[in-house]
Amino acid sequence: MTSTLPPSATTGSRRLLTELPGPRSRELAARKAAAVATGVGTTMPVYAVRAHGGVVEDVDGNVLIDLGSGIAVTTVGSSAPRVVAAVQEQVAAFTHTCFMVTPYEGYVAVAERLNDLTPGDHDKRSVLFNSGAEAVENAVKIARSHTGRQAVVAFDHAYHGRTNLTMAMTAKSMPYKSGFGPFASEVYRAPLSYPFRDGDLSGVEAAARAIDLIDKQVGAANLAAVVIEPIQGEGGFIVPAPGFLQALAQWCREHGVVFVADEVQTGFARTGAMFACEHEGVVPDLIVTAKGIAGGLPLSAVTGRAEMMDSVHVGGLGGTYGGNPLACAAALAVMDTIVEEGLVERARQVERILTERLGRIRSGDPRVGDVRGRGAMMAVELVEAGSTTPDPATAKAVATEAHRNGVVVLTCGTYGNVLRFLPPLAISDDQLHEAFDVLDAAFASTAPA
Ligand code: PMP
Repeated sequence: MTSTLPPSATTGSRRLLTELPGPRSRELAARKAAAVATGVGTTMPVYAVRAHGGVVEDVDGNVLIDLGSGIAVTTVGSSAPRVVAAVQEQVAAFTHTCFMVTPYEGYVAVAERLNDLTPGDHDKRSVLFNSGAEAVENAVKIARSHTGRQAVVAFDHAYHGRTNLTMAMTAKSMPYKSGFGPFASEVYRAPLSYPFRDGDLSGVEAAARAIDLIDKQVGAANLAAVVIEPIQGEGGFIVPAPGFLQALAQWCREHGVVFVADEVQTGFARTGAMFACEHEGVVPDLIVTAKGIAGGLPLSAVTGRAEMMDSVHVGGLGGTYGGNPLACAAALAVMDTIVEEGLVERARQVERILTERLGRIRSGDPRVGDVRGRGAMMAVELVEAGSTTPDPATAKAVATEAHRNGVVVLTCGTYGNVLRFLPPLAISDDQLHEAFDVLDAAFASTAPA
């Protein structure tokens, strides 16, 4: 850690004092290369010292506008006042006892809030873990325990994590799976609804296509769970056509299959609803949450129908750190912040700004094939002009140009050709516009002559 931190920015907009990465960041990158396993990549080798509102400050005194939220985590901001105060109070009281040894109220309170906030007014229970992948794994355990069946269906372009079971559920080989097999068995893949690449296929027709494959290749009688991201994250911010999720959920209900919504990336106001399933009027049996739940502290959860959740014997679920008291204090503060600061509505305002700015880029640039997403989870898919052929080179070039000019932006997609925008909801309109002025210039400067 650097001994003297650069002064904190006061204006809240970009401040570029050095080229990016600056000299101190480059020193740290050299230390990283010598000390940290190569397998852990970084989007921008710019080392952070503070983050607040819509900005990240680096070790060289530069201030970057953040359109990534640490991959959809700091929805309420990186140092949201309620979260900071709640964690400070908790850390002084106790850091850990292990909920499975001597429990504490924070865990119970988070479970109560999740049971209340998640879609559906049925009787629910929750269980807390540390990471998104861990929660997805546990949702599968619960579904298997409840149904007495083994098979799990995940979708094309899915991302569910990097642990062994979730690698099997994740679609993309490089970098997530390549060389890491053998993978868990009894995981099957079904086709998604991907409107940009599906021609005229409606959501209901895409669901029928998936269901036919599941029925023939797996069989409902063997199927414990269908696990789906209501808007795919790493796979390319793919919003399925209307009716797709409803039809799948309906089929699951009719065949005793547990319908699991992986809302790790979409949850907690990110999409302009508390949970993305709400846009489609879908009530999942189990909902998996993480990322935005606790403002950056590691916490994840499975929430679902009481009879399913309670099918697991005592001791079958848990973990040393699951529902850590600091993370629970943060989560309660996050949920208060979302409600009290109207962040669901704020995500809708962000959507309006992003839709307008991205629409403008699209109208002047034939490399932008699609603009999609909801709330503060929007993306552009880049293609070779006039086609649907993926253009990852442009995605990379625009991102690199944005990074050089102090805007944190991420790519994603099976083909690496999607630029995604996930600003913290604490960002100001001015910061958003400033970031998109940089992106306008990045598109212009990378356009073919
Ligand atoms: N599911 C989804 C939809 C995700 O986006 C992610 C993380 N990108 C995960 C699961 C895994 O979460 P974690 O990295 O916390 O294990």
